[in-house]
Amino acid sequence: MSENFTQFKLTTNPSPVGRIAVLTMDNGSRVPDVKPNAFGAEALASLNTALDDLEKQDDVKGLLLTGHPFMFAAGADITSFAGVDAAFAKQGGEAGHAAFSRISALPFPTLAAIGGVALGGGLEIALHCDYRALSTGAMMVAFPEVFLGILPAWGGTQLATRLIGAAKAVKVIVENPMNNNKMLKPAQAFEMGLADRLIDSANFHADATKLLIDLISGEVVIEREAPSDDVDEAISNARALAEAKVKGATLAPTRAIDCIEHAARGGDLAAGRQMEIDALAELLPSNQAQASIYAFDLTQSRVKKQPWRPAAKPRKIQKISVIGAGLMGSQLGTLFLQRYESPLVMKDINADVLVTSKAYIDGEIDKMVQRGRVSEGRAVFLKSLVTYSTSYDDVAGSDMVIEAVLETMKLKKIIFADLEKVLDPEAILLTNTSSLSVKEMGNELAHPERVVGFHFFNPVAVLPLVEIIKTDVVSDEALATAYSIAKRIRKSAVQCADAPAFIVNRLLIAFNSSATKALAKGNSFVEIDDAIKALGLPMGPFELFGLVGIQVAFHTAETLAGAFPERFPMDPNFQAIADSGVASIYDWTKGPGVPADEVAASRTGPRSSRPSRSR
Ligand code: NAD
Repeated sequence: MSENFTQFKLTTNPSPVGRIAVLTMDNGSRVPDVKPNAFGAEALASLNTALDDLEKQDDVKGLLLTGHPFMFAAGADITSFAGVDAAFAKQGGEAGHAAFSRISALPFPTLAAIGGVALGGGLEIALHCDYRALSTGAMMVAFPEVFLGILPAWGGTQLATRLIGAAKAVKVIVENPMNNNKMLKPAQAFEMGLADRLIDSANFHADATKLLIDLISGEVVIEREAPSDDVDEAISNARALAEAKVKGATLAPTRAIDCIEHAARGGDLAAGRQMEIDALAELLPSNQAQASIYAFDLTQSRVKKQPWRPAAKPRKIQKISVIGAGLMGSQLGTLFLQRYESPLVMKDINADVLVTSKAYIDGEIDKMVQRGRVSEGRAVFLKSLVTYSTSYDDVAGSDMVIEAVLETMKLKKIIFADLEKVLDPEAILLTNTSSLSVKEMGNELAHPERVVGFHFFNPVAVLPLVEIIKTDVVSDEALATAYSIAKRIRKSAVQCADAPAFIVNRLLIAFNSSATKALAKGNSFVEIDDAIKALGLPMGPFELFGLVGIQVAFHTAETLAGAFPERFPMDPNFQAIADSGVASIYDWTKGPGVPADEVAASRTGPRSSRPSRSR
């Protein structure tokens, strides 16, 4: 039996319309340490027990289903999914359907009062109620299942489609999860029709209870229009989208679309439920789902707890400097500005780069204004916090400095030595190096204990990971500060040893070297990129070079070749391309997937007859 499992607690209260039942999902956690209400076998057993009790009470006039503040329910307990077989998945699917269907069958009005996060099975249990009230404080509403390689299999595909129509069901069940697991804000979920009322969070519980009473008395009548969207169009768009995004690498979107189509074409509900169960039994044991669920648990639960963070008090950050205002530096500056709203110095050796960096950062703030995330006044304030400078004088007084200059040890050492002259001895020094030894970078400093590797991924705003590289001389204060920064900028920090290319780039370079080997055998860049994308990856290795910059990719490969020449030999083609100084493999101005002239000229060895993508 798992600790702190979610219990369904039944109480009944008198009201002007007779007794109403309140069924509260509660795992015992409380604000501020709210843990997700999750449904495992014990939770479903508890629901059945509560429903046994409720079904016996013949004077109850209505049911309010609720969670605790900020948390309605986060769905199935994914910690129970590891290593399961089809029989287990089938049984889990059936158990959820059996228990939730009992809510739909209750002979009085039922209202889900969604006061907090409602995800997956949490949203599905709410869909089994007659009505839904959603709090403005419910931070996230979503079906994340397809993101995990499975599908909503406790009625989600069937009930959501009947409620909101095929196109919106596709959006919330298939498209959003494939789009970096996008979640809905309460107003969006309400507009989509997933809830009947959007209620201010201040008085949510009382107002939701009043709504239930009014629904029982008939004072409020909720009528919904039947969805009237074009099912053929919605389903064919969905299938095209799934093909473009995952190219069959996972069957989850396809199976979810099959279930949505069944519901949208008026298919039998019981048959639709069975389709969900069968699809879950097929998908859950698959390698794809098992790996996704493992990764999700790791990044969303275990890493967020920052298990490696020392107990030391982090340094307070009131002024930040970024050294190197290029591709990464400008993105880092934007992020720090957004999350810290404190003075920021962008320092580069090249004044022209600073002009470009300012245009980038100002542009990003303007986009935040356009999206309604930042007011016009705040934008003016944020822009006023940034100093663009070629002088270390402006960097003095910073509590934290991150360097993002070219990937060479010599340059990074010079930068750190220069910084030490203007910073106080406790200021934290971070490096965004992709591959170099962090200890070596600091070993000539008076205070090497303040240097921490803090490796971001491009594009910084989108990718959630930061590698924190711990040297054996780092102080607890510096490391604790690095973790506290990661938390403040909302990144998932994973600790790495100070070894060449750390974790992600070590894997990436191994992967890239398969691509460069194929190149040496005569395949074209496009053939290789297309073959990799057919595995379900969003871009091919040579397209990725264009995003990260060939020089960065090359220097990282070079670090690994230096450390492990047998395992990571330097490819002569890659070397020649990097030497040509070109920024990207493809020259998109010449057509889809046409290599830049310098790339084509510097390539050696046999060539494929299919050099570019057909238009
Ligand atoms: P970049 O070439 O776009 O920017 C580097 C900047 O450093 C340039 O603007 C340059 O003018 C400036 N610079 C050079 N010498 C300087 C000096 N002495 N003082 C101040 N500024 C100086 O490079 P980038 O892609 O932003 O990479 C920067 C660092 O980030 C590298 O260590 C790289 O490995 C790492 N990184 C890059 C990526 C990526 O996708 N490009 C991802 C993660 C980490």
